[in-house]
Amino acid sequence: MTTSTTGTTETSTRGHCMCGQTRWEFTGAPKWACYCHCDDCRRNCAAPVVAWLGVTRDNFRWTGEPVRTRQSSPGVHRHFCAECGSPMGFEADHYPGGMHLYAASMEDPGQFTPTFHVNYQSRLTWLGPEDDLPKHEGTLLHARPSPGAGPG
Ligand SMILES: [Zn+2]
Ligand SMILES: [Zn+2]
Repeated sequence: MTTSTTGTTETSTRGHCMCGQTRWEFTGAPKWACYCHCDDCRRNCAAPVVAWLGVTRDNFRWTGEPVRTRQSSPGVHRHFCAECGSPMGFEADHYPGGMHLYAASMEDPGQFTPTFHVNYQSRLTWLGPEDDLPKHEGTLLHARPSPGAGPG
């Protein structure tokens, strides 16, 4: 058993933007983890749905270059990478002491377990994991039908 002078033994979770300049870290477990289907989140990320995790501001810190921040509506602050523009965080006056982070920016986004949806009424109806469409591995290049395989 090791002794620590700081007493800090909590695990850290880290994340970063697409270019790697903007980085974050928090300790302990997220307070919640969900999907948001609202139009603002969707447009901010240009993604059909956004996966979020909520942490306490006291357990959170930016560790890379300073983020840029845009007030998207009164009291709502959206943080993004100054270099590559990746959305990185959300803070709002109506969520005091909280920092919302994008699950997809985690170092290992696979280590995320969403437990609920919000704004489900705004979901895109074409988005759904349960459908009968072909499932391709790899990129779009692998999803193209072979020549002559069209309908008819
Ligand atoms: Zn970046
Ligand atoms: Zn939203």
